[in-house]
Amino acid sequence: MRAEIIAVGTELLLGQIVNTNAQYLSQKLSERAINVYNQSVVGDNVQRLSDAIKSAFSRSDMIIFTGGLGPTKDDLTKETIASYFGLKLVRDEESLTNIKERFALMRKGQPFPKSNEKQADMPEGCIILHNDDGTAPGGIIEKDGKIAIFLPGPPYEMKLMYEHYVDPYLAKKCPQKFYSKIVNIMGMGESYVAEQLDDLLSGDDPTVAPYAKEGEMMLRVTTMAKSEDEANKKMEGTIKRIKEVVGDSIYGYDDIPLENVVYSILKEKNLTLTTAESCTGGLIGSIITNVPGVSSYYKEGIVTYSNEAKMKYLGVKEETLKEFGAVSCETAKEMAEGALKNTGADIAVAVTGIAGPDGGTAEKKVGLVYISVADKDNTVVEKFQFTGDRQKVRRLAAKNAINMVRKKLLKIF
Ligand code: ATP
Ligand code: MG
Repeated sequence: MRAEIIAVGTELLLGQIVNTNAQYLSQKLSERAINVYNQSVVGDNVQRLSDAIKSAFSRSDMIIFTGGLGPTKDDLTKETIASYFGLKLVRDEESLTNIKERFALMRKGQPFPKSNEKQADMPEGCIILHNDDGTAPGGIIEKDGKIAIFLPGPPYEMKLMYEHYVDPYLAKKCPQKFYSKIVNIMGMGESYVAEQLDDLLSGDDPTVAPYAKEGEMMLRVTTMAKSEDEANKKMEGTIKRIKEVVGDSIYGYDDIPLENVVYSILKEKNLTLTTAESCTGGLIGSIITNVPGVSSYYKEGIVTYSNEAKMKYLGVKEETLKEFGAVSCETAKEMAEGALKNTGADIAVAVTGIAGPDGGTAEKKVGLVYISVADKDNTVVEKFQFTGDRQKVRRLAAKNAINMVRKKLLKIF
């Protein structure tokens, strides 16, 4: 099915309001696998609206209108649609009762204005859509193989009406829907993944699309199906192929953040985590504590910004700092091991680096970060060279530190 959206209202043309209704409807229709061919905005003018309807129906099967259902003279959407189909407007008594009740509730004591009765006049034979949060009802006209759906302008009323009545109506007409699964990946370059999965990326059902995010990437797998079960079955093979290529770099699926993934593993294994942060200054702790319930697994973290603090709280040796510097593999390792020992946690992560903009040298450039994770079995240190401003370097360091915790917990290293 091909659809178009026509938003009615001079305010939109004057730029006084943004056409968020069209954005919402386009999103919803594309979820239903309905192709949106065109969006347009028309002022409160019968001639131009009627021209817009004619040209939209010359291309498409369905038009969804929003706005212009109010009680005033410039509200003329219904009238213009009815005249396009050659339908009369007839008063719907049930809608009138609703409108009066709603009016009495909202405008206590005021007399009901005669002009508001017009909102209950509906094109004959149309399906009437109740307004659950306002006065103007909406409607659906099916005639000559065309469908016109008209909804109120106020976004909240429009959304309720769409969700409660229009979506179920469309579900019967178009039982197929788009379903997507997002694969979240860290530690593998977008171009490498794209190259390895070239065949999947050029397939058409399911489709696979890569997206870059800061310090990570995701693959969106999409298919059209009648139910979630059917969609999952259709996507199974594709997800399996992605797992084979990307493996342990997949940290999770859909909109579950990395820190929630780490939390789930800590909880499942009943292990505690501690952090020892230098250049991230507490950012890792802040991200970890975004997750409700994490207090049982993250009891303390230490911010050791100066060399003195690194020695005092983490037992980093003075010789290590002198010989290798605060930003070094050796210091990161001692920080993680010291944090593990001093807090008694099961796993410790430590970060030391140069966030910039100052502090870089020829050998140690801004963006150089060492991250170490330690548990009772061993200690691992990784060296990163990030690029970007101070905040970006800190965010990337924190994210990668949390990802290394995930890998350590899963014994990937
Ligand atoms: P009312 O009974 O309030 O007059 P209506 O159905 O006639 O409702 P409009 O008069 O066109 O709708 O718009 C009412 C309000 O709804 C506008 O002032 C604006 O705030 C909002 N609105 C209308 N159309 C849109 C749109 N396309 N996108 C976002 N907001 C909109
Ligand atoms: Mg209006």
